Amino acid sequence: SPAPAVRTRALHVVPEARSLPPVVGAGLRVPTLRGETAYANLDHAASTPALETVKAAVDRALETYSSVHRGAGFASRLTSAWYEQARAEVAEFVGAREGDSVVFTRTTTDSWAVLGKALPSRTTVFVFGSEHHSTLLPWGRFRTVRLPVPRTLDDAYALLDEALSEHPSRHRLVVITAASNVTGEVWPVARFAGLAHTHGARIAVDAAQLSAHRRIDLAAWDADYVAFSGHKTYAPYGAGVLAGRSDWLDAGTPYLFGGGATRSVSEEGTTWATGPARHEGGSPNVIGAIALAAACATIRRHAEAIEDHETRLLDRLRSGLADVPGVEVLSIFGDDSDRVGVVAFTVDGWDSALVSQVLSVEHGIGVRDGKFCAHLLVDELLEDPWGERPDTAVRASIGLGTTVEGVGRLVSAVAGLVEHGT
Ligand code: PLP
Repeated sequence: SPAPAVRTRALHVVPEARSLPPVVGAGLRVPTLRGETAYANLDHAASTPALETVKAAVDRALETYSSVHRGAGFASRLTSAWYEQARAEVAEFVGAREGDSVVFTRTTTDSWAVLGKALPSRTTVFVFGSEHHSTLLPWGRFRTVRLPVPRTLDDAYALLDEALSEHPSRHRLVVITAASNVTGEVWPVARFAGLAHTHGARIAVDAAQLSAHRRIDLAAWDADYVAFSGHKTYAPYGAGVLAGRSDWLDAGTPYLFGGGATRSVSEEGTTWATGPARHEGGSPNVIGAIALAAACATIRRHAEAIEDHETRLLDRLRSGLADVPGVEVLSIFGDDSDRVGVVAFTVDGWDSALVSQVLSVEHGIGVRDGKFCAHLLVDELLEDPWGERPDTAVRASIGLGTTVEGVGRLVSAVAGLVEHGT
């Protein structure tokens, strides 16, 4: 049934471009041992706060929403139109080509589960040990060629080139990360896509750490698939995306068997739908999709201002930490790498979990410590035959909820720890 198109425009919140879009809860204050203070959010790599435009879009949708692609009533048709409009916005956001599929999932992890189910049987998967576990591990039912953690980009290129030459197979998929969740280092996706295609392989890109910071561009990269998560892109939990070539997705096993994913069901058998519906069995998360699309629209409008803000903060953070004796910032490819605002570091003589506790409890700073679901990478970067180095790191990550003051507070707090032990 045709959607009432005019009313759907109400969902589009048009923010001021050039300025930074505000996030919800920016004024949060938290208790610390030294008294209440403004929360310094340096944990955007884990999850981002929601944008105000996302909240507005969700509030509006909550007033009217009904079933998606399941009803003839006005509210159902309106909601279905919103859902497809959200898909169109996400398609723009990822630079989808004509004919690409945009499937709403729950998270990046979930997106790989969708792709993993849909890949042709006997696909060989090529994946670097530096990947996040969500991108490293889901290929269990396929022959997987695990490449070591590379230490230069040329090294990575050569390792992949060699592996693709040595493992011919009809269907091959290279999986790489656009930006590391440990070091923030950006991988030149187009270069690796070119290499994969030279060998007749496809490439899937984990953009979980890129989506909030830099442009995802399937067309310009000439990449085959991309996945990212709403909760790392200024939308709440529960919505993610898998976008890319539709042929394998349309032919592969549907992700969830159930209503919405079928074209017809009879005693003789089931015919599955093609297009995104094939992998979106069950009632879809329309509010999540609307939230994610609102975030994508806002990020696209403010891309330049966001990158300027983050570059400024990242430079401050890196130069501030570089001046603190005993602090080591982790890097795969070296200091000159292009990177988004994710900085993992160790403090000589200090357990990383203790550092992050002190930052939180005494200074009101939110960071993360550990191995960040990238054990192989962190183990490689912290390798120490003498056993004197911390075996985990502290990660500070920048986004729209981070202020110059917050970065300064983190650097002073780490310097205080090293200098005075508190
Ligand atoms: N890939 C990278 C690079 C990540 O940083 C993360 C999450 O931290 C994931 C994948 C998994 O994302 P999600 O937990 O949203 O599935």
